[in-house]
Amino acid sequence: MSNSKLAYILTRNATYAQKHTSPGSLLARINARKSAGIQGTVIISCSDPRIPPETFLALEKGEAAIIRNAGGRTRDAVRSLVALDAVGNLGTIIVVHHTDCGMSHTDEAGFRAKTEARHPGIAASEPGLVFGAIRDPEETVVEDVEFLKSFPGFGEQMDVVGLVLDTHTGLVKQVV
Ligand SMILES: [Zn+2]
Repeated sequence: MSNSKLAYILTRNATYAQKHTSPGSLLARINARKSAGIQGTVIISCSDPRIPPETFLALEKGEAAIIRNAGGRTRDAVRSLVALDAVGNLGTIIVVHHTDCGMSHTDEAGFRAKTEARHPGIAASEPGLVFGAIRDPEETVVEDVEFLKSFPGFGEQMDVVGLVLDTHTGLVKQVV
């Protein structure tokens, strides 16, 4: 990152902080929600900077925790998901894949070849590396929901749903 870009970001943060109000203690929030029987919601969605879930799902502040990674793949999200469940007692998991995703324009072999070309030797040093290329978001979102439901207790104790966002219209549809 250039120094000027970082300086610009830090300047905007300073401006933001002037109007920031503290969200309050996390433990107080968790305890209040637990005693009210409110379970947490997590959204797993793509890192694509064009499509923040806060925007296309019109989320209210504090409404859901969000895990973002390349493609919104659930295998990639497992550590965060189980940690969030331990902290916040999850009741709903929403997986969102989307059209025109960067993970859909190259296949698994293509990702491997591009990465190997930029960083020779990386494939040998990370033999288990799976990129999670997306063939069709309506297929992969089903695979990813099924993967989460295969976790002990997840399918029984939580609502796990899969949506596909049309990147260009902004509409989501429930696939599973
Ligand atoms: Zn994407």
